[in-house]
Amino acid sequence: MLKVNDLHASINGKPILQGLNLTINPGEIHAIMGPNGSGKSTLSKVLAGREEYVVTSGSITYKGQDLLALAPEERAHQGIFMAFQYPVEIPGVNNTYFMHQSLNAIRTARGEPELNSVDFMRLVRSKLKLLNMDEGLLKRYVNTGFSGGEMKRNEILQMSLLEPTLAILDETDSGLDIDALKIVAQGVNNLRSPERSLLVITHYQRLLDYIQPDVVHVLSGGKIVRSGDKSLALELEDKGYGWIQDYREAA
Ligand code: ADP
Ligand code: MG
Ligand code: MG
Repeated sequence: MLKVNDLHASINGKPILQGLNLTINPGEIHAIMGPNGSGKSTLSKVLAGREEYVVTSGSITYKGQDLLALAPEERAHQGIFMAFQYPVEIPGVNNTYFMHQSLNAIRTARGEPELNSVDFMRLVRSKLKLLNMDEGLLKRYVNTGFSGGEMKRNEILQMSLLEPTLAILDETDSGLDIDALKIVAQGVNNLRSPERSLLVITHYQRLLDYIQPDVVHVLSGGKIVRSGDKSLALELEDKGYGWIQDYREAA
């Protein structure tokens, strides 16, 4: 599904990712953990195709094609979904309208017919129900004045509607309340299927109490310094990130 090979990326000439390798197979959920400033959000932005993040060497293959050759919207059309740590506010644009347009653009790219308003609302309501969310966010402007938890809920709702092939979730470093964490986890767990992959980037072990990742990676100093199963996340919670330094020097 995704293969990142010896990736180096910079922002404003400053190297951030420094030899990152990552392979995600179809059906797998991977978690990336790591201290603040280690490059987690940078990785998600490179995968999204944000142009400020310059790839200086290495490669990324998605479903067998060169991801870096695709424009950001082509990546979305090919089934990549990105939930950012700080989603963009779009004042004046109704959230329901925005989601409807996004879904229809993706359906068109997939060769599926567009949904009319009635069918779209039916679909949104079924997703809301699945996620135990209320309709409050639908009438508001996109992300405008949303709390951290509301933004996260909204991203998970979008993800559930778009049914991506590869979803990348960059979690907020500030603590989400337990209800928001559960919604994120539920959204991820609902999406799990043999044809899909998810990459969950998180600063906190707590989220992984609700999601069962197949692989946990530790990112430090712009590269993955350890990979393991869920027990690695528990070990991190126990020991903190200080002990990673040893692996970083060895890597
Ligand atoms: P994380 O998500 O792991 O906390 P980031 O990827 O956000 O880490 O940041 C990695 C490093 O890149 C940090 O040292 C951060 O200060 C730097 N960085 C991120 N974005 C920018 C930017 N727009 N301009 C300059 N430096 C940046
Ligand atoms: Mg950070
Ligand atoms: Mg971050």
